[in-house]
Parts: sequence; structure tokens; C-alpha cells
Amino acid sequence: MTEMTTDGTACTAPTLRPGDLSNPVAVAQALIRLPSVSPDPGESQQLLASMLETLGFSVTHLPFGEGAERTPNFFARLGTGGPHICYAGHTDVVPPGRVDDWRYPPYEAHIADGLLYGRGACDMKGGIAAFVAAVARQVAAGGVQGSISLLITGDEEGPATYGTSKVLEWMQAHDQIPDYCLVGEPTNPRVLGEMVKVGRRGSLNAQIVVEGTQGHVAYPQRADNPAHRLLAVLEALRATPLDHGTQYFEPSSLQVTSIDIGNDATNVIPARLRHN
Ligand SMILES: [Zn+2]
Repeated sequence: MTEMTTDGTACTAPTLRPGDLSNPVAVAQALIRLPSVSPDPGESQQLLASMLETLGFSVTHLPFGEGAERTPNFFARLGTGGPHICYAGHTDVVPPGRVDDWRYPPYEAHIADGLLYGRGACDMKGGIAAFVAAVARQVAAGGVQGSISLLITGDEEGPATYGTSKVLEWMQAHDQIPDYCLVGEPTNPRVLGEMVKVGRRGSLNAQIVVEGTQGHVAYPQRADNPAHRLLAVLEALRATPLDHGTQYFEPSSLQVTSIDIGNDATNVIPARLRHN
């Protein structure tokens, strides 16, 4: 079956047999072929939940939030005893950007030269596929001692207000807190297994609005160009160290992610601009 993705490229709906679940590449391809730009509209999570139910997990869907902000999440557990290890992850992905810039379409899950190409292959449908395949192989080998759970959110890349933190509150209220947790985020830039992260960076997002005075470029003395002011502000911020890092973490950094002027005229000095 072929359907169209939101960006107009064709993708093939996944057809996975239970035996495929022990193959992480097949699982990752099936997940990548369901576009799930944050917040995940839910299809890839439904597929993942059905895979886990096939393996014997009991799945509790936990959509938190209201209306359009409702975030799909679920908690799935196989077994009831201890020790209890939880695999944590997210099904949403960041937008693909310009589709023409991709070597292969972002939702085709194309394999070339031993590499899987697709939005989320690395962060982190590949990690989730590894969770599924590991459990499938353990189930096939005779089952699980203790219990394994998956904490899956559909909003990690966005505001994440109704994501992992809300599921954790639910887990605490329902006596489901694990003994161990493994987060499947990509952490090995060069070689698999080169590092295990012992923590997670925090983040602070800010928006700067610079006001100026509009004017014609031929009369700059009668205007106040906010673009010029912003350059000075950004350079000062960028040149100021936030901290010096630690034994385990690199120094904090400030990253400019967007500068928006929205000025179509080349002969007008804008009145206002902002950057994130
Ligand atoms: Zn991630």
C-alpha cells in the first residue's frame, strides 16, 4: 500500500510480520516511513504499541494535554517482577527541512552502502527499534526475568510540556518506577559504544526583539537600523563564556537558531527584528 506523506513524497505503509520484530533495521524502517514531526500525530506510536503488544507487553496510552496540544504518550510493560528496567524514548522527529537537500527522501527509509537514511534514523527511531529488537530476541530466547518497560513520548523535540515528565508522574502514582532506565538517544558520534552519558544538558530558550526606527536606506541618518544593533548584541553574547564545562560535559553554548526581519524591500531599513 502506498500513501502520501505531508510533504508530498510517497511512502509505503509498513507491513511487518511478528518475526521481523527481532530485526532492528526492519523495525526502524517501518517507524521512519510514518512521518511524525513533533508533536507526533500518533500513527508511529500506534504502530510501536502494536509491536509491543505482539511481544506480550501491556500498553497504557497516556495522552496528556488539551485539544490540539494533546500529546500521545504510552507506557508499556512486560512482566511484573523486579528488577525492572525501563527503555525511554520518543517517536517524534524534527522537521526535515528542505526535502530537496536530502540524498534520499526523508521518509523512504532507504538503505545505501550499509547506511539507513531517513528522518529519525538516528534520533531516535533507530534507538527505539533497537529496544524492540532486543526484547523480541529475549522473548524468543525464553522470556524475560524481572520486567522490561518502555516509556514513549510523542513530544520530546517540541515544548514537551505533556511528554515524559507527565508520564513519569503517572508512573510514580501507579507504582511503576523502574530500578534502571536506559535512554536511547544518540550519544556516540563516531563509534558505537564509545560513551555512555551520565546526565543530560539543560536548555534555556530566549527571544530578543530589537526595536529601531524605519527609514529609507538613502537617508540612514534619519533611521535607526535594528539589524546593526542586533549584530552587536549577538557578538557580545556569543563572546561571553557561560561556564567552563565539567569533567563529563562540554561548556554550555549559546546558539542562534533564527533571525527574522521579514523585510522584502531592499531599500528600506526595517523598524524591528527578532531572533531566537
Ligand atoms: Zn532525541
